[in-house]
Amino acid sequence: MTANATRVLVLNSGSSSLKYQLLDMAQTRRLAVGLVERIGEETSRLVHTPLATGGERRVHEGPMADHDAALKALAAELAADGLGLDSPQLAAIGHRVVHGGLKFTAPTVIDEAVLKEIERLVPVAPLHNPANITGIRTAQALRPDLPQIAVFDTAFHTTMPEHAARYAIDVATADAHRIRRYGFHGTSHAYVSRRTAQLLGKDPSEVNVIVLHLGNGASASAVAGGRCVDTSMGLTPLEGLVMGTRSGDIDPAVTFHLRRVAGMSTDEIDELLNKRSGLVGLCGDNDMREIRRRIDEGDEAAALAFDIYVHRLKKYLGAYTAVLGRVDAVAFTAGVGENAAPVRAAAMAGLEGLGMAVDADRNAVRSNEPRLISPEGSPVAVAVVPTDEELEIAQQTYALVTA
Ligand code: ADP
Repeated sequence: MTANATRVLVLNSGSSSLKYQLLDMAQTRRLAVGLVERIGEETSRLVHTPLATGGERRVHEGPMADHDAALKALAAELAADGLGLDSPQLAAIGHRVVHGGLKFTAPTVIDEAVLKEIERLVPVAPLHNPANITGIRTAQALRPDLPQIAVFDTAFHTTMPEHAARYAIDVATADAHRIRRYGFHGTSHAYVSRRTAQLLGKDPSEVNVIVLHLGNGASASAVAGGRCVDTSMGLTPLEGLVMGTRSGDIDPAVTFHLRRVAGMSTDEIDELLNKRSGLVGLCGDNDMREIRRRIDEGDEAAALAFDIYVHRLKKYLGAYTAVLGRVDAVAFTAGVGENAAPVRAAAMAGLEGLGMAVDADRNAVRSNEPRLISPEGSPVAVAVVPTDEELEIAQQTYALVTA
């Protein structure tokens, strides 16, 4: 690697999408960001924003057959900005990988053995890991000489103690099928818990934080002194909080009931709980803005969906307060957590007994900066801390290749 190789390309590959950011790590600056959607369809679309040149956002529509075509298209966009991926300034490519099982506890340089292990985890992450593997192979073909680093969504949660990670089911069955709680959104929980400590002027090792990552997918985590001790997602991202389209916690007997009584197939139940549940299942909308608008108009289904969403949040706040013993901060993040003041206010209402409260004026401030929303002198600091998973992936990637 040359001394001025300070750029990192971050790739987040979905089954039909490819999100990317090119960052310069010497200045911690984003050079370009973009997204390719509907890969494999006639209507593929690339949206590229050249931040370094300050140019206009560019949109290209037209068929892109596969991830290889998508990567070549984004590489051409970057080259047009003078940021080509053949540049010696590119230090590494960092890949978001959803499931790293128990083996990957830290960012990892990808080789064939690592790819095999990611492949071995496909049964526990059937939607995500195959797409991540495709993204990695495509990037390897483009720049075989460059370090490719995997940053795992599960890694931050591998510090969970067994009593938090195990389900109370037959151990032999669980072990045979690698059934346990892995947790997800780890990159975000790691970034936000550390950033929250910074906001308090403390070292992460000194503080206990509850992180509420509330996006379309949503998860909570309990972080003690910088280490995750519990998180709400489990074997898959279905467990835990009420989400945009996922049910979160549910009695597992509901699934047998749906098979026996409603005659639904396993795939139909999977689709019901992952795609037609949560806020969408309860009221038909998963966008919190729309739900709030409907509530303001007196819509009862929207109001009940909101209350169920908030009730679940409160239960996790209480549970994680007990798990941690002492809570220094609660951090709200992701689309809903960063933007929906009414959700934050409702989740914190009545929790004064736990030392948690929200100041109405502070909560109403809109900003992209981390900020406190609890009243002055509150025992627990309540904060809004915007997440930045791409920056975290880039930092972990760069740290590994420059170590
Ligand atoms: P993803 O899980 O897809 O990464 P995000 O973290 O981007 O999701 O969150 C998307 C969600 O954030 C939307 O579905 C919407 O409910 C919510 N959201 C975004 N902006 C706002 C806003 N201004 N007010 C309330 N909710 C918002």
